[in-house]
Amino acid sequence: MATRPSRDALVALEKTLAATYQDWQSRGLNLDMTRGKPNAAQLALSDALDGILGGDFKAADGSDLRNYGGLEGLPEARALFAPMLQVRPDEVLIGGNSSLTLMYTTVLFAWLHGPAGAGSAWRLEKDVKFLCPVPGYDRHFAICEDLGIGMVPVAMDEHGPDMDAVERLIQADPSIKGIWCVPRFSNPSGVVYSDAVVERMARLGTVAAKNFRIFWDNAYSVHALHDTAPPLASLMDACRRHGTEDSVYVFGSTSKITFAGAGLAFMGASRANLGVICKHLGKSTIGPDKVNQARHVRFLRDEATLHAHMAKHAALLAPRFDAVLSALETELGGQGMGHWTRPEGGYFVSFDTLPGLAATVVALAAAAGVKLTPAGATWPGGKDPQDSNIRLAPSFPAVDDIRTAMAVFTCCVKLATVRAWLQGG
Ligand code: PLP
Repeated sequence: MATRPSRDALVALEKTLAATYQDWQSRGLNLDMTRGKPNAAQLALSDALDGILGGDFKAADGSDLRNYGGLEGLPEARALFAPMLQVRPDEVLIGGNSSLTLMYTTVLFAWLHGPAGAGSAWRLEKDVKFLCPVPGYDRHFAICEDLGIGMVPVAMDEHGPDMDAVERLIQADPSIKGIWCVPRFSNPSGVVYSDAVVERMARLGTVAAKNFRIFWDNAYSVHALHDTAPPLASLMDACRRHGTEDSVYVFGSTSKITFAGAGLAFMGASRANLGVICKHLGKSTIGPDKVNQARHVRFLRDEATLHAHMAKHAALLAPRFDAVLSALETELGGQGMGHWTRPEGGYFVSFDTLPGLAATVVALAAAAGVKLTPAGATWPGGKDPQDSNIRLAPSFPAVDDIRTAMAVFTCCVKLATVRAWLQGG
């Protein structure tokens, strides 16, 4: 534990920090660390997608990519992405360009039609809730909000969600119909779920209601910053051991592999679950964009090529994460002004201020020209009861801009903390 400076020292520190902060304010900065977007150099890694077909529009089975059909996706694309989802190729559906759309659609189908046929529709229940490990991904929470689904926060630690709480809540409350999980390099904490957590997740299907589903959003499945980052156990394999394959939907996309917005989205699910999804999906489309699927298959080819491609992303992202982490360490290390994660992959660093200061820090940074994800965004309803979590997204800005943004951020954390201490906080 750091010892807090004396009151006189705090008064002096506040003066110096306020002067530094004013100096930052006078510089007219306009920096943005809000969203986990790939940077331009990352996008350029996949420019060869354009034109890669060279006029050859034949799928592996000889069919015409340009025509209708193939609701579940091209077999060669399903085979390529199955390992990413840790499911079998026949358990993969490839559709559209956004996994978020697939998640929204899946929740909507479960609500309207039910995840398991007649009588399983969530709309027939008195109440529907999702467990939301926190801090978590704001767009997951937004889906629930949009559809009027209640949200129950569950704490995360370095192994994943608090599984004692998850099991207790599910057994006590049958209105809980789902849980949002980002199991590898969680958004925003970077946590990789431990084998024990994956195993307990797989067992949920033995105690939960028949129409309960785990939404396993493996958005960062292959997005490690280095080769020795912790792997993730396969949830579907664990489910097979427990006979709970129907309790899980897996999601992923190439948004942060090729083009964010012009990539491929996929889901993995048991054949029974895919059957239900396809029954309803088939009413809204005659088939996906197979031309883009073929482009991705020819570009990413196999697991080794995909791995080599992701290493190029890592080379571009690692210096950006280093810039964030070294600023935090240098400026805030050992001072008791907050703590933060040191992710080995994914797109975010999660920072916790002392309780009650996150909104102040975000507002101070904004007034100095550094936009951060709004305080509270990592909690359901945008309300962090501790007002302490801030998500830092270093992927998009240039390294020099990150250094500047982090100098402002750490100054804001120090200023807010010192002022709180002076007020007896
Ligand atoms: N899931 C998570 C956890 C994310 O962090 C993101 C984007 O930041 C997405 C999904 C969005 O994925 P997609 O582009 O496939 O819709």
